[in-house]
Amino acid sequence: MTKTFGKLCEQGIGKVRRFLLLRFRKAYVEQQVERRQGECNQCGNCCELLFKCPFLIKNDTGDTLCSIYENRPKQCAAFPIDKRCLSEVDFDCTYTFLQIEPQVQRADT
Ligand code: SF4
Ligand code: SF4
Repeated sequence: MTKTFGKLCEQGIGKVRRFLLLRFRKAYVEQQVERRQGECNQCGNCCELLFKCPFLIKNDTGDTLCSIYENRPKQCAAFPIDKRCLSEVDFDCTYTFLQIEPQVQRADT
């Protein structure tokens, strides 16, 4: 499927954003891990952001494998960090994120 220029830009920015989050906002990344729900279904969608990763193997049944799984980059293991990452794969991912309700300030405290 051909990607629009807008989608390519979104995915490119997403890759840089994840790199920076993992490097400089570790507390945020850890917080998001607690909110993340679900399991990876190995669809491989996150391995085709911007371009198809050369380490991605697709078998006949449609399942995917990472040929360097044990040594894959941190950015791969961390996907998706938050909802914005899910948008990059058009929410075609089996992870979701718990919504955290804002704390209500009580008048008597
Ligand atoms: S898009 Fe989501 S479900 Fe698919 S391989 Fe990536 S993390 Fe797993
Ligand atoms: S290195 Fe592996 S997990 Fe990372 S994008 Fe490539 S195939 Fe996917």
